[in-house]
Amino acid sequence: RKGTVIITGASSGLGLATTKALAETGKWHVIMACRDFLKAERAAKSTGISKDNYTVMHLDLASFDSVRQFVANFKQSGRPLDVLVCNAAVYQPTAREPTFTADGIELSVGTNHLGHFLLSRLLLDDMKKSDYPSKRLIIVGSITGNTNTLAGNVPPKANLGDTRGLAGGLNGLNSSTMIDGGKFDGAKAYKDSKICNMLTMQEFHRRYHEETGITFASLYPGCIATTGLFREHIPLFRLLFPPFQKFITKGYVSEDESGKRLAQVVNDPSLTKSGVYWSWNKDSASFENQLSKEASDVSKARKVWEISEKLVGLV
Ligand code: NDP
Repeated sequence: RKGTVIITGASSGLGLATTKALAETGKWHVIMACRDFLKAERAAKSTGISKDNYTVMHLDLASFDSVRQFVANFKQSGRPLDVLVCNAAVYQPTAREPTFTADGIELSVGTNHLGHFLLSRLLLDDMKKSDYPSKRLIIVGSITGNTNTLAGNVPPKANLGDTRGLAGGLNGLNSSTMIDGGKFDGAKAYKDSKICNMLTMQEFHRRYHEETGITFASLYPGCIATTGLFREHIPLFRLLFPPFQKFITKGYVSEDESGKRLAQVVNDPSLTKSGVYWSWNKDSASFENQLSKEASDVSKARKVWEISEKLVGLV
């Protein structure tokens, strides 16, 4: 049978390119989990993939109710779940003030981390039940977790501190909107959320890999300097960023190529190792990358997991 893969944020950028790469193999049915139904349908059509190979389902990660509704809808569809890809993200590098999810949580961490945390916890049972030979849960990470690269060291650097802001609910009322308790910084909030993504992947691995056989993985797909992720950046940045990445850092990767990389993490028979953070070298060969100290901190991963469970209402 065809595999079923859910990809969040499949309406543009990496998510759309991965949808295309997988749907074109004819071996996958892609559930495009998107907040804008029409945009996602149009995006799917623009890639030319066949209607038999995808379904758009509504998911707004910035609302726990919407996440629960999506899970209920998916279960009702009767499809098995073989692979889940947590890909969607918001990035607000120029925001001066925080914005909030439907549940009153700072938007970047609320969407990128907590929405995905709830989604993957609620779908874990479905993945356990699937008889697919290689079940995988993939959470897209970022270079901000590698301190062995230049780009991973650009300020403001990610830092979760003692997680006091997260424990307070990131609501800007009786708690800070930043995980470490500091003043709001949109670029840092994004990087912090990606550290949470990578910590969550490893905590999943420690808690569930042996029992379920599911492969848990994260990746840095390369710098896809042309995606909508940078839509809120100043125009000069958007103009100069792609050539800067192409010619100076040489980390630039096209949307097509990044989609092929993520598709590899979904279905390449050689990428079954669990608990790994994949990256690609300049010849586009995959390798197991090292994470920064904070992104591989076991006690911090447990702490983030336990606080997140409370915030999303699982305990
Ligand atoms: P895009 O902005 O092109 O795609 C992000 C996707 O997330 C869009 O489909 C967007 O939907 C969706 N999304 C945003 N908020 C929500 C929400 N509340 N509910 C559901 N979906 C939502 O960016 P990229 O493709 O670049 O980013 C994809 C992933 O790649 C992210 O995890 C990012 O951190 C990661 N990444 C990107 C890099 C890059 O250089 N671009 C580098 C490293 C990692 P909509 O279309 O409706 O806006």
